[in-house]
Amino acid sequence: MPVYSKKFDVIVVGAGHAGCEAALAAARMGFETLTLCLNLDTVAAMSCNPAIGGLAKGHLVREIDALGGQMAKAADACGIQFKMLNTSKGPAVQAPRAQCDKVEYRLWMKDVLENTPRLSLKQGHVDRLLVDKASNTVLGVATKTGIEYLAKAVILTTGTFLQGLIHIGDNRIKSGRAGEQASEGLSASLRDLGLELGRLKTGTNPRVDRNTIDFKALKEFPGDDLVQPFSFSTPRGSLKNKIVCWTVNTNEAVHETIRSSMERSPLYNGVIKGVGPRYCPSIEDKVMRFPDKAFHQIILEPEGLRTAELYLNGLSTSLPEDDQLRFLRQIKGFEAVEIMRPGYAVEYDYVPPTQLKSSLECKAIKGLYLAGQINGTSGYEEAAAQGLMAGINAALALKGREPLIFSRHQAYIGVLIDDLVTKGTTEPYRLFTSLAEYRLLLRQDNADLRLMDFGLDIGLLDPETYAAFDKRRMALKSEFERLDRLMIKADSEINATLRELESAEISQPTSLSSFLKRPEISYEDLNRLAMGGADMDLDFAVRQQAEIQIKYEGYIKRQLHQIDQFRKIEEKKLDENLDYSLIYGLSREAREKLSRHRPMTLGQAGRISGVTPADISVLWVALEAQKHLGALKVPEPETL
Ligand code: FAD
Repeated sequence: MPVYSKKFDVIVVGAGHAGCEAALAAARMGFETLTLCLNLDTVAAMSCNPAIGGLAKGHLVREIDALGGQMAKAADACGIQFKMLNTSKGPAVQAPRAQCDKVEYRLWMKDVLENTPRLSLKQGHVDRLLVDKASNTVLGVATKTGIEYLAKAVILTTGTFLQGLIHIGDNRIKSGRAGEQASEGLSASLRDLGLELGRLKTGTNPRVDRNTIDFKALKEFPGDDLVQPFSFSTPRGSLKNKIVCWTVNTNEAVHETIRSSMERSPLYNGVIKGVGPRYCPSIEDKVMRFPDKAFHQIILEPEGLRTAELYLNGLSTSLPEDDQLRFLRQIKGFEAVEIMRPGYAVEYDYVPPTQLKSSLECKAIKGLYLAGQINGTSGYEEAAAQGLMAGINAALALKGREPLIFSRHQAYIGVLIDDLVTKGTTEPYRLFTSLAEYRLLLRQDNADLRLMDFGLDIGLLDPETYAAFDKRRMALKSEFERLDRLMIKADSEINATLRELESAEISQPTSLSSFLKRPEISYEDLNRLAMGGADMDLDFAVRQQAEIQIKYEGYIKRQLHQIDQFRKIEEKKLDENLDYSLIYGLSREAREKLSRHRPMTLGQAGRISGVTPADISVLWVALEAQKHLGALKVPEPETL
């Protein structure tokens, strides 16, 4: 087979959301990078909904941005409707979400890739990994058209394409995404290398022609008046909503049509074997699982500014196309609707991620990294976050540096990757805020404070962005000091104002920060207590940060204290070659699972199912004994 003349540092297979971030990170960190994908017209394609962000996902996008990734900037540039979710709830669960122009997003991201120094983009179908079997080290990839590309690291981000099989009713098409070929060969190559593969499925919704809908029957669903961008570099107030969405409900007639078509649903007649996402059920699932529910809400989301295609959020289905049309036409306003693309389900191979280290490098093959849906996740943001970390860690390894691994209290990225590599997944994994133990610390508003130092240290975050952040951080420090320093005297005028604000009166001088701690007093209210009490000339991000950190100080301190207590266990390193069979007192299951998963820390060990707190205590004692006695073999308990 001909070997391509140029040798690369990093090869990224796939140019979806994981692939784009991985390639950009590796190239920006100084390495010659090649991206190979099946179709250059679908770089950064949104396979499902035309939206970025949402709960926990929006947090990930802000973290990607804080580290120097691209997704937030792409969403800002191509967003057509923006919303901050959960604004009536606490700051920990608020998250940005944007409808995007799908075509614009693809072109915008491809343009960024094409204009990034050291990054080459090629169309090619990778069907084999090149590995030096003696050292279990990756050497490169081979394509179906017979070219071998060599590199020091390979990152696989093949999404839903590995042995992809699309289902629409009883029609089955070999494909990774509607209209695109499946990836063949790579699954066998991975199995040959000793990796275990599983099968998952996901589904998408029909796209309909907006010109065939009667909007009088629908309710408008507008964006926010004042748009909060995703990226820390996009000025607040610089983005505008360009579209509205609409909502409509299904009804009993729709449900009846779906029920009567059920034996033609590959999900229900047993044809689909892969496990689907529980949190994102198809309309078939919803109708069968909740028979008493009279309706389900659908949101009509425009797919772009220059297309009539509307995405029907909430209506994922793999029913036959004629049945899809039948039930759609029973929805109010949809009497004459035309489908432009039918909904479908896709089954694909994935690599159970317990076979990876926390750096996303494969435990069995040096230099091979996996990121995105191939690891059993679902979602653009989950894919992008993993792609970014795989790109960063491949680059750090080439620099001879330690991998960048976030703990669960540092970033949602840490929660995501830790869940994947320690617990694995047998259904498409999506991130939720409830999966984070320390979510009051992992807010979307403070992703810069949590992560920009790391972004700069690894050489990914550009210095101008960091300088602007550093200025904000210093302004925040001064603002804390100012609010602590400024005392308000207790007098009848102040107490009258406090009564108006429905806040308790004061009898002694009180600092502005003490007032701000009160739930009923906002930052702006400080102006009513003292002239210039609120510094409205300060950057919004600084004002917001000061308010959140002061108001939630008690809770934040409590979480920081918990982290301190857990850190000792959490960060205790476990030797990669630890012989668990030598440790007296471990249960058989723990011994077997620990030997298989090879956790990197005691904290990770504790999250492996089947490893009990008692096993963790035994391990702790064993590690302490090793430290003091120089041997791992732990004496029987009575002699300790
Ligand atoms: P993808 O975006 O799938 O990109 C894969 C890339 O790999 C492509 O560029 C492809 O060309 C390339 N590739 C594959 N094999 C090869 C090869 N052998 N050689 C070269 N290149 C290769 N997410 C949700 O959050 N909610 C949903 O409801 C949802 N529904 C979905 C429904 C469908 C039908 C599909 C297809 C996806 C759905 N997703 C959903 C998932 C979402 O699209 C993915 O999670 C996300 O796009 C994964 O990103 P990725 O980068 O891992 O892979």
